Amino acid sequence: MNFVKPKKSLGQHFLTDQNIARKIVDSLGTEIRDVLEIGPGTGVLTQYLLQRPEINLHVIEIDRESVAYLHQNFPQLENIWSEDFLKSPVDEKFAGSFSVIGNFPYNISSQIFFKILLMRNRVPQVVGMVQKEVAERIASKHGSKNYGILSVILQAFYDIEYLFTVSEQVFFPPPKVKSAVIRLKRNQVEKLPCSDDFFVKVVKTAFNQRRKMMRNSLKSVCEEIPEIYADKRPEQLSVTDFIEMTRLIENLIKK
Ligand code: SAH
Repeated sequence: MNFVKPKKSLGQHFLTDQNIARKIVDSLGTEIRDVLEIGPGTGVLTQYLLQRPEINLHVIEIDRESVAYLHQNFPQLENIWSEDFLKSPVDEKFAGSFSVIGNFPYNISSQIFFKILLMRNRVPQVVGMVQKEVAERIASKHGSKNYGILSVILQAFYDIEYLFTVSEQVFFPPPKVKSAVIRLKRNQVEKLPCSDDFFVKVVKTAFNQRRKMMRNSLKSVCEEIPEIYADKRPEQLSVTDFIEMTRLIENLIKK
């Protein structure tokens, strides 16, 4: 078997440009060992990952046909998991930390990042290709209209770099949108000065009504919002502001 017919329902857009594939794999730093590739498909990134001797590669792929293709074409690849990344207890398969790479299925890319966040203390680095808009959103700073939930909660724990844009023409079949590759490196923050879960809740609640000021959007969370944040809208608050605001609100609620 040397061909897998792309399945739209699984977000399959196979990368056809070898130089870009190599560039994505080269974006993964050298200070790593265990690596998980999400959605290898027919292995365009896998082949270059296997060429890096320092990497111990594991791949997870939902599509049985692609899995069969990988077994046939990469017999040296021992760890091929035929599973759904979103449902699999992937962190239990690794003894220590593991980095993540992939040309992610775009229909579930946000969910992939939310799951990575839950495993953040085990995942030092992520190199992912996603829809360009999603990459911009994740990397954007406060003050930008792209700034949102994923930007704030990912940036609280990761340093994020927008690496490069990729044209729709280098995929089969070409997606409707441009793509981009981003890199996330775990920062030094081990524990926020507030509850992590409450922080996520505050950020989500604020952005769910993004045109409202904090005093209105966060009513369901706390009756009284600290004065300096009360008349701000979520895109005006930096990641540090969100953390500090959550800490203050938490103290108010505890009283
Ligand atoms: N890496 C390949 C394929 C990218 S397309 C390339 O660059 O050419 C996205 C891949 O993710 C597809 O192979 C698809 O089958 C796989 N996929 C989709 N949903 C998945 C899930 N929930 N878990 C694991 N893999 C998934």
